Amino acid sequence: GKGAAMVTAVAYRLAKQHAERQRILDSLRLDRDQLLEVKRRMEEEMKRGLAEKAHTTAAVKMLPTFVRATPDGTERGDFLALDLGGTNFRVLLVRVRSGKRRSVEMHNKIYTIPQDITQGTGEELFDHIVHCIADFLEYMGMKGASLPLGFTFSFPCHQTRLDQGILIKWTKGFKASGCEGEDVATLLKDAIHRSEEFELDVVAVVNDTVGTMMTCGYEDPQCEVGLIVGTGTNACYMEEMSNVELVDGDEGRMCVNMEWGAFGDRGELDDVCTEFDRAVDDQSTYPGKQRYEKMISGMYLGEIVRNVLLDFTAKGLLFRGKLSERLKTRGIFETKFLSQIESDRLALRQVRSILQHLGLTSSTCDDSILVKEVCSVVSKRAAQLCGAGLAAVVDKIRLNRDLEKLSITVGVDGTLYKLHPHFASIMRETLRDLAPDCEVTLVQSEDGSGKGAALITAVACRLRDERKC
Ligand code: BGC
Ligand code: MG
Repeated sequence: GKGAAMVTAVAYRLAKQHAERQRILDSLRLDRDQLLEVKRRMEEEMKRGLAEKAHTTAAVKMLPTFVRATPDGTERGDFLALDLGGTNFRVLLVRVRSGKRRSVEMHNKIYTIPQDITQGTGEELFDHIVHCIADFLEYMGMKGASLPLGFTFSFPCHQTRLDQGILIKWTKGFKASGCEGEDVATLLKDAIHRSEEFELDVVAVVNDTVGTMMTCGYEDPQCEVGLIVGTGTNACYMEEMSNVELVDGDEGRMCVNMEWGAFGDRGELDDVCTEFDRAVDDQSTYPGKQRYEKMISGMYLGEIVRNVLLDFTAKGLLFRGKLSERLKTRGIFETKFLSQIESDRLALRQVRSILQHLGLTSSTCDDSILVKEVCSVVSKRAAQLCGAGLAAVVDKIRLNRDLEKLSITVGVDGTLYKLHPHFASIMRETLRDLAPDCEVTLVQSEDGSGKGAALITAVACRLRDERKC
């Protein structure tokens, strides 16, 4: 009768909606062959970036860092470090002791950089930084002290020596004018002179990946890779000097800052990208740039999720088809919400209350299930892509050394990696699958980037002192 026909119609509509949801979610799932292909292309890009000729057009820049030696335990002294470019801006005092009492002691203070300053002029940005340093020195009771300084500056920099770094381009949310093409150590020194409050000896400009690798390397000599999965993503590793064509000399190794976030900027990821990735890219500060980063890191994952939810809602598959103003707001899904929503201990009721907290009030229980599924598909893809990239790195190191098996440690830092309940395990699994000949230990570094900058500064000062005598 009529009732049965209606039931059938409803069942049919539900089945169709289910299929439609799955089709969309499937576009965000990667199979093994796709991941192997990502690994292969990353390997190719690494070679291009290292080569003298191909370098200019390479997406992955493979920047020499002029860090050649890891700490040997004999360095000591007090150092200042700055850490700019992640979630927080920090100033640190690092006391390094050598010998039997070998240790690193740290004091640090977190400062915020107001958004209008990240988007203002370079002078304003660096004046603000110097203002924070002055505040820190006073807070530590060290006003007027003049210390060697390591500057962790987490953006792509062209370096021809350790104490200089020419900003190639801003990434993440930064946009301060007049900095690109300039040496950031000079910008800092100029601001210090303007303030007339203190003097500092800028010894090293360091990428956060390099700082993280160094910090882990201080405890574990097998640590020859640094990885950041936070606001942005990037990796560095020890490359053979003979392969670093941009720097003269064939002896030993040098740490290379890969700037792998730009992988995909020449189309290498086009076939794994979805319409959601393209939407996130279009709405970002720098469209077309950092495509790999935009599929992996904390600044963008929430935006991918939001774009998927928008699409679901517009198609009537979520939130009863009602598009709220909240959902149209950029940046509402911060990393910490993703991590919370995906936590296994969380009941659906709690997912719902997170959604409510985000202002997405019209959600039902089914909505919560779907939102959680979207989050997990998006973050799983991120962890797998990151694992595929890392597989390329460790396998390259293994082949460089002509080894059948390589045992290596990767120092990792970044809020997404640390806070997300599944990112690390999925990445590890991918790595095991795609680089089976490498035994990789992932070590989470505490305060890695700032401490590492101080250690690099300490090594540089030690070498400088040795040269003097
Ligand atoms: C920057 C890298 C940095 C990474 C992680 C990227 O956006 O280009 O230099 O290492 O973020 O902070
Ligand atoms: Mg950081």
